[in-house]
Amino acid sequence: MSGPVFRFAPSPTGRLHRGHAFSALTAWRACKAARGEFRLRIEDIDQIRCRPEFEAGVIEDLAWLGLTWDGPVLRQSGRGAAYQAALDRLAEQGLAYRCFRTRREVAEAMTRAPHGQETVFFGERLPERDERSRLETGEAFAWRLDARAAAGRTGALDFLETGSGPAGETGRQAVLPGSAGDIVLARRDIGVAYHLAVVVDDAFQGVTTVVRGCDLFGATHVQRLLQALLGLSAPTYHHHRLLVGEDGKRYAKRDRAETLQALRERGVTPARLIAELDLD
Ligand code: GLU
Repeated sequence: MSGPVFRFAPSPTGRLHRGHAFSALTAWRACKAARGEFRLRIEDIDQIRCRPEFEAGVIEDLAWLGLTWDGPVLRQSGRGAAYQAALDRLAEQGLAYRCFRTRREVAEAMTRAPHGQETVFFGERLPERDERSRLETGEAFAWRLDARAAAGRTGALDFLETGSGPAGETGRQAVLPGSAGDIVLARRDIGVAYHLAVVVDDAFQGVTTVVRGCDLFGATHVQRLLQALLGLSAPTYHHHRLLVGEDGKRYAKRDRAETLQALRERGVTPARLIAELDLD
């Protein structure tokens, strides 16, 4: 039997900051403690937001932190055929449908829902004739998962959480299959969306343990469902706390958190940063 496989899967939409360093080092240390293999995956499906210089930055920053990985770097931008095959499989099972609603229409449908402000969206497949005529006029659409049909197909599912979710969830977690609604499987602009790409690639890379921030705990419910529908094995999950700055707010690219590059340029050493991160 082969050993455990861990991964770090950043999206190169900016330079890495302390929050990324915390996440990457948490995963890498867990991997080393388990004598596992470590994979690096560049989640660059969104070719508008992702840039080659940010990918180069990821490699540079990880090397600076002293992190190493096994095997080649996997780039999601080169994995379109695998995502398409997974999408076809879901569509053939009647579990994916074309959704022609715009972002605004989806938001409006959510406010009109019976309980007022819904946070998730459930749509529906259009009647065939209607769908055909929209396709003929070249109207854009996204592929969505029919979450209710999917839940009926798999029966009860669970996943093992060895870290904790945002509300302290730990241990065996029952999957809430409709918790995210009819998620987008393939975006109209880039042909695939986050959840589908992640489950296909975690399986492809043989990942046995997913270590990531607890902001992605909710995503695990959807991802576990997709794994079951696609016949993929389920990794164990370890969600870690999110690193917060002195202001109590989590580090984020959009808040212009100080980058590892900037830290390095002002003379901070990896050892000092690692000590400061106070890894669990
Ligand atoms: N690419 C995602 C991010 O940078 C992480 C995905 C994951 O770990 O599942 O936030």
